[in-house]
Amino acid sequence: MYIDYRTDAGTRPTNEMRKAMYCAEVGDDVFGEDPSVNRLEETAAELLGKESALLVISHAIIGGMQTRSLPSAGGVMEPKTVNAVIRHPDESMQTSLLCIENTHNRAGGTIVPLKNMMELYTIAKRAGVAVHLDGARLMNAVVSTSIPVHEYARYTDAVQICLCKSLGAPVGAIVAGSYEFVRRARLWRKRLGGAMPQAGIIAAPGLVALTTMVERLAEDHENAKNNLRFKKRRDSGI
Ligand SMILES: *Cc1c(COP(=O)(O)O)cnc(C)c1O
Repeated sequence: MYIDYRTDAGTRPTNEMRKAMYCAEVGDDVFGEDPSVNRLEETAAELLGKESALLVISHAIIGGMQTRSLPSAGGVMEPKTVNAVIRHPDESMQTSLLCIENTHNRAGGTIVPLKNMMELYTIAKRAGVAVHLDGARLMNAVVSTSIPVHEYARYTDAVQICLCKSLGAPVGAIVAGSYEFVRRARLWRKRLGGAMPQAGIIAAPGLVALTTMVERLAEDHENAKNNLRFKKRRDSGI
């Protein structure tokens, strides 16, 4: 079997997704009138346990900010370290956001334990710092631990998940949070060129991804583990 490890965004839409695109009910999403987009956003918000959600096309965020990265053990940041580096309002620079990635891609797809997320969230809230979860591959953690996605999302103010990585949708991601956060995100999406009339065409396969493709990730995990076993055997010359 051939496994392509270059990127999990190389997935192709399933037949069900293609049918969903063909049949998608659409309206003008710039007016909030695309029923397929609304259905996807409502489903995603409910799944993540957030007030509201927004469909975005994949682009990097342009932020007026400085970032500071911290050491981690397998993608897991030590609460003590995070606590020590938070800059408070009386300092020249103020920390406004703590970002966590789960699962952690560069650490090898590792899962950040829920307990660690809870501890980091508590520290951030105490310091008045918002928490964003880069959950591009959060569903991999969900499938692996059987912890519902809203439990992970509980310890965040905002959460992003990719529809177009291994869930297989052709394009798109979800960003979810409070009504006020999503209202501002919607405005920023427009400023960045992301207003999409009749976006139902891409929301429809996104909904198929979110509602039918999560369980299937177990197959990817199994393939990856088998591949690792094979490599270990090969490298040890057995
Ligand atoms: C792909 C990816 C993103 C961005 O996803 P979009 O679909 O472009 O919004 C963010 N974080 C990680 C770790 C990713 O792999």
